[in-house]
Amino acid sequence: MSRFWSPVLETLTPYVPGEQPQMQRLVKLNTNESPYGPSPKALAAIHLQTTDDLRLYPDPEGVALKKAIANLHGLDPKQVFLGNGSDEVLAHVFLGLLKQKNAVLFPDITYSFYPVYCKLFGIEYKTIPLGSEFEIKVADYPVPNGGIIFPNPNAPTGRAIPRKDIEALLAKNKDSVVVVDEAYVDYGTESCIPLLRGASCPENLLVVHTLSKSRALAGLRVGFAVGDPALIEGLERVKNSFNSYPLGRLAQAGAVAAIEDQAYLEETSAKVMQTRAHLVKELHSLGFDTLPSTANFILTRHSKHAGAKLYQALRDRGIIVRHFKSLRIEEFLRITIGTNEQSNELLTALKEILASA
Ligand SMILES: *Cc1c(COP(=O)(O)O)cnc(C)c1O
Repeated sequence: MSRFWSPVLETLTPYVPGEQPQMQRLVKLNTNESPYGPSPKALAAIHLQTTDDLRLYPDPEGVALKKAIANLHGLDPKQVFLGNGSDEVLAHVFLGLLKQKNAVLFPDITYSFYPVYCKLFGIEYKTIPLGSEFEIKVADYPVPNGGIIFPNPNAPTGRAIPRKDIEALLAKNKDSVVVVDEAYVDYGTESCIPLLRGASCPENLLVVHTLSKSRALAGLRVGFAVGDPALIEGLERVKNSFNSYPLGRLAQAGAVAAIEDQAYLEETSAKVMQTRAHLVKELHSLGFDTLPSTANFILTRHSKHAGAKLYQALRDRGIIVRHFKSLRIEEFLRITIGTNEQSNELLTALKEILASA
């Protein structure tokens, strides 16, 4: 606290990211990064860009990257918006599309950055409870509203809803924007991007993606949104009032190559999904109940042992997972799907912990 701070700082509750500990030899399963490296083609493209040209500003429009994304998804480049990580994209979405007269709606248990942006930008919000099985119930979202946003699959539950539920939500919700944050879509969830192709593109659907999870480039900071060109134009107005160059030369080059290497994405995502299935089965035999996940993480709870205790005991053994002190999920652990070896280390540690408790 300082007397030099703007008054708005006192009202903020900043987002707390999962820790990035500097200790060596940790099994790090807390922030949903990919356990595999980025596409070798992305790394090569970044190396190629590492030249004296770095003295020059990057392309402010990110034309090549927008083209690559549009090509991959069968869209027009005018339907693509780029940002410095999808968190920045989301910030612009909140300010540019979701700051309305009515409150914006999102689930009570969801990505905890959403309420942080609401406070930062002075946006009213209302949370809608998940169902008893931690599922998003689209029928519970009232109209009118100032917009609706949720991840699909949801975080930190890992549970997804089918695309037809989102189509039903769009049909009922013609007068505000529906934002689907598809950060984890590549691990077995139906994407809403196909709805955006061609002339039937809904005016009010925005889909947000990141290269931080399935494309293993969390360190590069690249995210994007796709939707109707008028929504994208609105986001460009916010971006060009904030930072003309959100993506550096290395980020743009690496992202183009990563987007073009769909084979690598499919191969590494398939490995994560196999490890997930195995881990869920083994956890079940240890007495854990896991929510059905189509993400690269699971939310799981033991019938007899508290989440906070297990979190600490794992930590003492050099295994970092995530525990949320929030209502309804405080008994759970959120565990990122790592390699098979990391999963086995986790399972061995849990067996020891449960045996000694
Ligand atoms: C990780 C995550 C993001 C942010 O990703 P970045 O592109 O790294 O900023 C956005 N939404 C959800 C739900 C996430 O889990």
